[in-house]
Amino acid sequence: MAATRLTVAAILVAAGSGQRLGADVPKAFCRVRNRTLLEYAHARFADHPDIGDVIVVAPADRLDEAKALTGAVVVAGGATRQASVAAGLAALDADVDTVLVHDVARAFVPAAVIDRVVAALDAGADAVIPVRAVTDTIKRVDSERRVVDTVDRSTLVAVQTPQGFRRDVLDAAHAAAASDAATDDAGLVESYGGTVVVVDGADESFKITHPWDLVVAEAVAAR
Ligand code: C5P
Repeated sequence: MAATRLTVAAILVAAGSGQRLGADVPKAFCRVRNRTLLEYAHARFADHPDIGDVIVVAPADRLDEAKALTGAVVVAGGATRQASVAAGLAALDADVDTVLVHDVARAFVPAAVIDRVVAALDAGADAVIPVRAVTDTIKRVDSERRVVDTVDRSTLVAVQTPQGFRRDVLDAAHAAAASDAATDDAGLVESYGGTVVVVDGADESFKITHPWDLVVAEAVAAR
């Protein structure tokens, strides 16, 4: 793709425990075909021609391990994803004007998705997220497990990462956040009044969350 005008850094958040995966190590340190999810995700960004600095946000007790696996700048995460992203933002060099925030749990994000996010930022977007159409029928249920209604899925998308931002927009949205419970950064920009645009995500960017996802990850890694 065309060389970008932007100075783009990537923050890879890897400080979650990954309890839903049921592994005996934090999710980012789980191995698929003998490489950690952190190594797969890091390579996608370190090898991308538009990305400069890569910052890994790791559990506080695994900083050396994360450094040995990636060679990246490594900082300690926080108790929530939002706190972990904030720790990554605080570690950015002064000259960085554009940030991609990526969940290491999406270890197999294709370069084409990174291309699309960077291209949208290069075209002037403040914030951009990769999305997929929702294929399941979606229903709202109550606490008694009764169906309340069926949601019109034609207006819904499922959100992936990397999410891309002008750095000043993301910094301001984090500073203005009312709580630290956001599950994605674009949500903070929305609350702050910013405009978020979408580009196409990819099936390979699925989030490794449950044990079944590791079965799929084995197949993807084998390709
Ligand atoms: O738990 P979940 O899969 O939604 O986490 C998404 C991403 O955020 C993962 O890559 C995880 O490592 C990261 N995270 C983090 N710090 C936390 C919680 C999650 O870096 N405190």
